[in-house]
Amino acid sequence: MTKRVFEAWKGSNKFILGGRLVFGPDARSLPATLLLIIVPVALFCVFVARHLRHEFSSYNAGYAILVVAILFTIYVLILLSFTSARDPGIVPRNLHPPEEELRYETTISADGRQTPSVHIPRTKEVMVNGVSVRVKYCDTCMLYRPPRCSHCSICNNCVERFDHHCPWVGQCIGQRNYRYFFMFVSSSTLLCIYVFSMSAFYIKILMDNQHGTVWRAMKASPWSVALMIYCFIALWFVGGLTAFHLYLISTNMTTYESFKYRSNSRSIVYNRGCANNFLEVFCSKVKPSRNNFRAFIEEEPPRVVTLPNTTRESAKADEDNGTRRQKVEDDLDIGDDLMNLSQRCNAEEATNDQPHHTLDIDHERAGSIRTETRHGSWGRRSGSWDISTSDVRESRSFTTAKEGRG
Ligand SMILES: [Zn+2]
Ligand SMILES: [Zn+2]
Repeated sequence: MTKRVFEAWKGSNKFILGGRLVFGPDARSLPATLLLIIVPVALFCVFVARHLRHEFSSYNAGYAILVVAILFTIYVLILLSFTSARDPGIVPRNLHPPEEELRYETTISADGRQTPSVHIPRTKEVMVNGVSVRVKYCDTCMLYRPPRCSHCSICNNCVERFDHHCPWVGQCIGQRNYRYFFMFVSSSTLLCIYVFSMSAFYIKILMDNQHGTVWRAMKASPWSVALMIYCFIALWFVGGLTAFHLYLISTNMTTYESFKYRSNSRSIVYNRGCANNFLEVFCSKVKPSRNNFRAFIEEEPPRVVTLPNTTRESAKADEDNGTRRQKVEDDLDIGDDLMNLSQRCNAEEATNDQPHHTLDIDHERAGSIRTETRHGSWGRRSGSWDISTSDVRESRSFTTAKEGRG
């Protein structure tokens, strides 16, 4: 049966409602975050705002305190869901390394045998606002990360304009949800200030009504005191975070960049002036998601990568010497820097009149390479392909089968 994209997703995300909502792998922290918001507000409504209803006789204005608290909390929760349950800007993985970036090389061994190899450069330069920026190749996603993109180790995805992974919302903060994240944090700050002020106001009213001291008023409404303490502590976190992100937005920096390139000029590349930076974050159109999690996966036909002529010559030379089978095994032994994506060099291809020797890369193979990457066997040293024992076995048996048929 055809699977949907989210059912075969290689990242660590969690999906609900048939792939309509996407979370990070640590989304279970979300209920705790919800409780930290909803419980204090509920206590505020019951023990503080309820008593303030009749304090302003004209037009029952006291009700507004209760209504504002409830509506503002709903607004904060909507912002939280926008931050947490949507694609933060995941760059879809490639099934194969970008063919146009492959570098073919031929190494000559001591006995004069030529061995073709292919690798992919670790970095490449791209231009951003007229400045050259080096971007890295991501082994897991098999792509050159766009500028400002980073691979989140928790979600196991490359995320555009990666800011950080937020454990409180259980999601990456990136290109598509940074605005909502900031609005969530800053609104939470305002909610804290609101609850704190109204609780303090209620204490003041109790003091005035009972002509007592502040201590007596606090004793009369311990929940007000508890809420004020809670909001005071929470303000240090959310308020501090709001201030920090205001600074980051004004300089057009991400949290990741601010820690990584503290003394580097890289962030200046993106800085378009304070006002423009704010406009970019708050008034630019949110990019549509590059992932359709609910789409059905289409089978991709096998691909063919062509190696230069030298490869063919060496293959032919081997064949002439009657060492065709030996060659495959040798290549596999040399393994480390070989393009052993499938290494199905067979007699038919080597002897026909095609100008190039061809190597097939099929769908499952690409998949198996990717799996190995997670275990670090994708050669990090030079961006070349390593080969696993199972590959060796498979290719050998394949060759044997071919020979048996021939
Ligand atoms: Zn990646
Ligand atoms: Zn993440």
